[in-house]
Amino acid sequence: MKIFGSPFRYIQGPGAIAHLGDILAPLGERYFLIFDEVVKEIIGNRIADSLHQAGKNCHIGLFGGECCKSEILKLKQQAQKEPPEVIIGAGGGKTADTAKVLSIELELPVVIVPTIASNDAPTSHFAVVYNENHVYDHMEIMKLSPWYVVVDTEILVKAPKRFFVAGIGDAIATKFEAEANANSGANNYFEGQVSQAALALADQSWQIIKEKAFESLQAIDTGIVNQAFEDVVEATILLSGLGFENGGLAAAHSISSGFTFLDQTRGTMHGEMVAFGLLVQFMLEERPKQFLNEMFSFYQKVGLPVTLAELGIKPSISEKLVPAMETICGPASEIHNMPFEIHTEMVARAILKADLMGEALKG
Ligand SMILES: [Zn+2]
Repeated sequence: MKIFGSPFRYIQGPGAIAHLGDILAPLGERYFLIFDEVVKEIIGNRIADSLHQAGKNCHIGLFGGECCKSEILKLKQQAQKEPPEVIIGAGGGKTADTAKVLSIELELPVVIVPTIASNDAPTSHFAVVYNENHVYDHMEIMKLSPWYVVVDTEILVKAPKRFFVAGIGDAIATKFEAEANANSGANNYFEGQVSQAALALADQSWQIIKEKAFESLQAIDTGIVNQAFEDVVEATILLSGLGFENGGLAAAHSISSGFTFLDQTRGTMHGEMVAFGLLVQFMLEERPKQFLNEMFSFYQKVGLPVTLAELGIKPSISEKLVPAMETICGPASEIHNMPFEIHTEMVARAILKADLMGEALKG
């Protein structure tokens, strides 16, 4: 059976948060808004003001920075003092995840307002929970997707370039992982088969990125939104978000998950590891040389990593990868969504092959 899921509304444009009060009007009267100190600096009271102007009640909970049990409990207690009807999470991935978990625990709809475009998680119905030491703990799954995702491109264009490039890395993988899933017949994240819609969205995400990534990066340089930036933000957040949940993940993300277990990758972003993981997936798929050349050179132009060293993994010898291999090739890994059988040795070889090609190109 095919299943396709998505948020009720996706809204994107310059200055979108100024309209949040009107946009969210149908959802309820009482809102609990969470953001961290950094986001507080950037958007201050703009969201709360917009809600107040629309006659809504809004309380703020300051997010401490980690989506972990103690933080969730603290915010839950704050929220319950004046029970809200809607949770809003404004910020990066961890703020969004915390808002999602709060919405699960309080059985309320959630609104996600991303302030960076570093990955395609805002539209998803997943939240990753860490322990107090910032180590992955478990995944929480919402019954439904976020109700509204509101993306203010004027805020995103001011975020550091590296975040945006990482978001491009996360999104490039979506098409190729969805296709692998469709070919193997694996389920998507709604426990259904991959639909034509999912493949079309994932493909469109890549087409837009291929065509407009460089121009969109100019917007970051100037701090002024251009059409390419609008389109690439839509590709990395909406198209890739719907593409991955409805299309499923495969080798690229499993490589990224495994690499998070290596101490050396602490400073590396999800999208950067996924991007390199995709190069490994291409090696596993034995893609033709010309295709590989094109992809590697696209990565270099955009500023995505093509070597293990760029992810912090040095020297790039197979022993360094041992702690990651168990996760990458374990029974629960998405790598088994690839349409052929996977062995640990072939994956280790593919990782080193991708690295070797990257090193050779860098000269
Ligand atoms: Zn991802």
